[in-house]
Amino acid sequence: MSNLPSEPEFEQAYKELAATLEDSSLFEAHPEYRTALKVVAIPERTIQFRVVWEDDKGDIQVNRGYRVQFNSALGPYKGGLRFHPTVNLSILKFLGFEQIFKNALTGLNMGGAKGGADFDPKGKSDNEIRRFCEAFMRRLCQHIGAETDVPAGDIGVGGREIGYMFGTYRKERNKWEGVLTGKGLTWGGSLIRPEATGYGLIYYIEHMLKYAGQGDFKGKRVAISGSGNVAQYAALKAIELGATVVSLSDSKGCLVAEGDAQFTPEHVNEIAAIKLARKPLAALSSKAEFKYIEGARPWVHVGKVDIALPCATQNEVNKEEAEALVKNGTRFVAEGSNMGCEQAAIDVFEAARKARKGQDTATIWYAPGKASNAGGVAVSGLEMAQNSSQLSWSREEVDGRLGGIMKDIFDTSIRCADKYVKVEEGQLPSLVAGGNIAGFLKVVQAM
Ligand code: GLU
Repeated sequence: MSNLPSEPEFEQAYKELAATLEDSSLFEAHPEYRTALKVVAIPERTIQFRVVWEDDKGDIQVNRGYRVQFNSALGPYKGGLRFHPTVNLSILKFLGFEQIFKNALTGLNMGGAKGGADFDPKGKSDNEIRRFCEAFMRRLCQHIGAETDVPAGDIGVGGREIGYMFGTYRKERNKWEGVLTGKGLTWGGSLIRPEATGYGLIYYIEHMLKYAGQGDFKGKRVAISGSGNVAQYAALKAIELGATVVSLSDSKGCLVAEGDAQFTPEHVNEIAAIKLARKPLAALSSKAEFKYIEGARPWVHVGKVDIALPCATQNEVNKEEAEALVKNGTRFVAEGSNMGCEQAAIDVFEAARKARKGQDTATIWYAPGKASNAGGVAVSGLEMAQNSSQLSWSREEVDGRLGGIMKDIFDTSIRCADKYVKVEEGQLPSLVAGGNIAGFLKVVQAM
C-alpha cells in the first residue's frame, strides 16, 4: 500500500522498465542494481510553480508549471517542455523517467528531466503565446542554466516558444548561455535540430531492416500518426529513401491515402503550413486522394503496411490496434512519440516476435521510443556542445553524428539483449529489453 496519489502514466513507464530488467539476467548478475532501480525511480528534485499571464482581453489567466529534475548522474538535466492541457505530474514524471535512459543511450553527457505546463496553445494568439512563455520562464529561470538544466521543446513547444523563453532568460539572468536547445540558427541553434527526431527514427529503422534481412526503405509502405515536427520529418526522410507514406493524423482524426495515392514532400510541406497556422489537418481532405477519418487513428485504416510509426503522443496504439497491425502483416513498429504504445500493445508485439520460428518471417519487431526517438535529444546534446565551444557545425557534420549515434543505440541495444535476455533459435532480440538494460546500466554505473 502506498500513501502516494496514483500516477498512472509514470507507473506504466516504471513498470515497463522494471519488468524487462526483472525478466533479464541482469539482477542475477548484479543484485545491487535492484536498489539502484528504487533510487533512480524518485526524481532528484521537482519544481512546481504558478504561471500568471494576461490574455488579449486584458483578463488574468493562471496555469500550473513544472520541471521534474529526475537524474543528473550523467550530466546536466536535459529534456523538453510540454505545453498541453493534459499535462500533470504523472505525465511529466513518465516523460522525465524515460528521458533519463534515452539520454544515456545517446552516449552524450546528459541527465534526464522534463517540464511544462497545462497551458493550451490551441486558439491562442501569438501575443498570448509570447506572454505565457515569458511568464513561464520568469518562474523557471532561477532553476535552470547551461550547466544545471537545459530544457528544449516537446508537444506545444517549438522554435517560436523557445525563442520567447530564451529572450526572457537572457533578460532575467543577464547572461547569454546555451540554456535551451532547439534555438533558431541565428542565435545559437544547431542545423538539423528540427529534423533530428524524425530523421533519427528513420536511421534507427534502417538498422532494424538491415539486421532482419529486409533490405531498406525502397518500396516499403509506411503508416505514420501525428503531423507535428517528428511526423513531418520522419515522413520526408522515408519518402526521400523511396518509401510510400500512406497516413498522418492529428488529435481530431487521421488522413489516409486512398488506393495508390501517397504523401509527397509537397503535401508534407502543406501540412507544416497548416500546423503553423494551428488549423486542423482536415483542411487537406479536400484533395481527392486522401480520406480524413474523424476521431480515428490510422492503424486499423491503412490496410497492409510494412512499417508503422506512432509519432503523435503517448498511448496511441492499443491492444486491438496492435493485433490489427500484426494480422495485416506489418513487420516493424518504431515509436517517434514517447511511450506511443500501451503496455498491452507492446505485449502483443513482443509475443509475435517470440512466436517466430526458424525462417518463418511472419513476425513483427518493435522498437521503444526511448531508443528510436532519441535523435532529437541527441542533436540537442550536439547543440550544447556547439554552444559551449562557440562553434557551428555544418549540416553534414551534424547529420553524420546523428547517424552515428542512432547506429550506436541500435548496436548497444542488440548487444545488451544478446547478453542478458535468452532468445530461441531464429528469434529476433528484444529491442525493448536491450534498450532498457543498456540505458539503465549506463545510469546506475554513473550513480
Ligand atoms: N522532447 C524531446 C524528447 O522527448 C527532446 C528533448 C530535448 O531535446 O531536450 O526527447
